[in-house]
Amino acid sequence: MAERIYEVVYLTIDDGPSENTQAVLDILDRYGCKATFFVVGHNPDYFPMIKEAYDRGHTIGLHTLTHDYAYIYSSQQAYFEDLEGIGNVVRDQIGYVPCFIRFPGGSSNSISENYTSGIMSALVGEVQARGYQYYDWNVSSGDGSDHTADDLVYFATEEASKYENIVLLMHDSATKQTSVEALPRIIEYYQERGYTFEAIDRTTFVPHHGVNN
Ligand SMILES: [Zn+2]
Repeated sequence: MAERIYEVVYLTIDDGPSENTQAVLDILDRYGCKATFFVVGHNPDYFPMIKEAYDRGHTIGLHTLTHDYAYIYSSQQAYFEDLEGIGNVVRDQIGYVPCFIRFPGGSSNSISENYTSGIMSALVGEVQARGYQYYDWNVSSGDGSDHTADDLVYFATEEASKYENIVLLMHDSATKQTSVEALPRIIEYYQERGYTFEAIDRTTFVPHHGVNN
């Protein structure tokens, strides 16, 4: 009998919560999917959605409070103060500070070089020394830029065959209506091919980009 290989999509959803988060949660429930939300502090009115996502079985991770590149990458101290800020927001919602984090721009970002030379090289070690683990991605839906829902489905699925474990980058910030439109089709594409959608936990495969600053 042929061995059945169970492939996993770790859907990661950044920059929320926002008015789009409820729709994303309902889609995930409809398809029986778990995901990971790397949250920011832009929309206090929607902070209760962090608890809602957690209660529905998703993983909560920290993105940053401000997502302000000029501030967070101005110094290690600024980065960690900002991380502590979003940690406090999440603790107010779910009772503890998660160890899962995602750097704005990913660990490979070079925009940080505009503010502090070498800061990513320092931070990737320092966050782990402080007990966090950072997650980059190996597939991007492209929804960080302006694209149609059709484009997002294409970007999110075109490289599927290259990976057994996919960490897929999407966003649920306020302007990302096209992400909500594309999400059911992205899920259907993978589920039809036998993938399951799981939330990140401490046993999960951890993709790290190469550091460029
Ligand atoms: Zn982001």
